[in-house]
Amino acid sequence: MKLNHVRPLTLDQLSRHLQAGGPSFFTSSKTSTVIPYDQLELYLGSRNGMLDLVDLSLLPKNVDLTDATLDVTGPITWQEARAFAQSKGREILTSPTEELAAMLAGIATSATGERCFGFGSLRDQVAQLEYLDGNGARHLLRHDRLLKDRPEFADSHAKNILERYQHSYTSYKNFKNAPFPRFERETDLMTGTEGQLGVITQASFLTRPATESTFLFLLLPKWETDFTRHLAVFNFVQSKRNMIYACELLDDQSLNVLPAHERPGRAGQDLIFLEIDSYHLDQFMGDFADLTDLIGEDNIFEISRQKCRELRMLVPRATFEANSRMGVIKMGTDVQMPPEHFSLLLEFYRECSQIGLSYNLFGHFGDAHLHFNFLPTKEQIPLAEKMLDRLYAMVASWSGSPFAEHGVGLIKQKYMRHFYQKVHFEMFDYLKKCFDPKNQFFPLGFMSLKLEARP
Ligand SMILES: Cc1cc2nc3c(=O)[nH]c(=O)nc-3n(C[C@H](O)[C@H](O)[C@H](O)COP(=O)(O)OP(=O)(O)OC[C@H]3O[C@@H](n4cnc5c(N)ncnc54)[C@H](O)[C@@H]3O)c2cc1C
Repeated sequence: MKLNHVRPLTLDQLSRHLQAGGPSFFTSSKTSTVIPYDQLELYLGSRNGMLDLVDLSLLPKNVDLTDATLDVTGPITWQEARAFAQSKGREILTSPTEELAAMLAGIATSATGERCFGFGSLRDQVAQLEYLDGNGARHLLRHDRLLKDRPEFADSHAKNILERYQHSYTSYKNFKNAPFPRFERETDLMTGTEGQLGVITQASFLTRPATESTFLFLLLPKWETDFTRHLAVFNFVQSKRNMIYACELLDDQSLNVLPAHERPGRAGQDLIFLEIDSYHLDQFMGDFADLTDLIGEDNIFEISRQKCRELRMLVPRATFEANSRMGVIKMGTDVQMPPEHFSLLLEFYRECSQIGLSYNLFGHFGDAHLHFNFLPTKEQIPLAEKMLDRLYAMVASWSGSPFAEHGVGLIKQKYMRHFYQKVHFEMFDYLKKCFDPKNQFFPLGFMSLKLEARP
């Protein structure tokens, strides 16, 4: 497949590109871990035809605050939005680790982040958005309007698909993201659909007044040896979402990427950090007394927001770079488990840690959502792939979600067979026909997978 680079500088130029109707893939900051950007040509090599790679990062951008809502136009990053909101005494509720990603792309990937623990998913923080269709025309979608009330779902056939689709979502209701988009509210058409139904050009995000947080570090024994303390913390935080915004893990292997003087604690220790609303800190510490005994007072200490953020960002970036250096496409997991099955996931990751490949484990611990990353050499890839294949088959049987924040992209499509049923293909086909009749929006995406492709 040949790639043609397109760089619109204005919305008019983007509209004209859309009117031309060629198959296109739209990019913002290109931080997605499920699109092999640095090997894209090679990855798509065996396919025929031409694909326009449309870079949205040069479009005009703006961020503004209307009442409590942050209005974002164009490729504003999370970092820019956070700084702007802070300057107005507000804060945004989602905080993906990669802050250079674009907020509108965050809707397309249904991004989450550490604060999802306290504030829920981005999907419910987007009050409304605008997108361009295949004729370059603008449309408004609102969170307070349901998909079932739209004209596309007026006839009984479409209604029936939507009802069956929504029923299939029931077991994933408490997850950040299911293996397939939510499709309940109008804004869901662009949420987690990875740019397959239109290009998002504007969105309004809910904010809240800025408050003080305290960052608490807990040092624990390595999870591979003993995760009883980890699980005690996990169980404790579940009922404290009103006072804890984030509960994250960086394991010993992840922390090894840091220079010794930057590393909190000693080699051989995992780190869990909590972001706690400072207003509730005294109450929290009182409730935490039993766990303080279990973990040991010397292993619990406060750290600055800045230091915490730096650590949190460094580890995934280093992991990503390690794979690129090896010429290996990212081999990480993005699995979220139902809380009662979290220990099964940790058991399986323990098995993965014992097969002789380099690895690390980090992520959104409080949500039972961890990234286990293999860091294989090229020769070790088949072994890592075998383990991942086993993992996804098991995740399906444990009713877990395979890709709770990074999406499917191109890299994870091969695992979807474990998770899609007939109704998902029917819904994707129907939406593609309604919203993308020329099949120009990321035609290689998961919504174009075919039922026959299932084994
Ligand atoms: C170190 C690191 C840490 C990360 N941490 C997190 C994390 O904590 N949480 C998380 O959710 N993700 C995380 N990610 C993944 C990534 O940052 C997110 O998926 C992010 O939302 C991608 O944004 P982007 O601007 O880079 O989009 P791109 O990579 O440019 O595009 C991603 C997808 O969105 C589509 N898209 C982009 N812009 C638009 C648009 N305007 N309209 C429609 N479709 C569009 C593209 O077609 C593509 O399918 C991390 C990545 C890295 C490298």
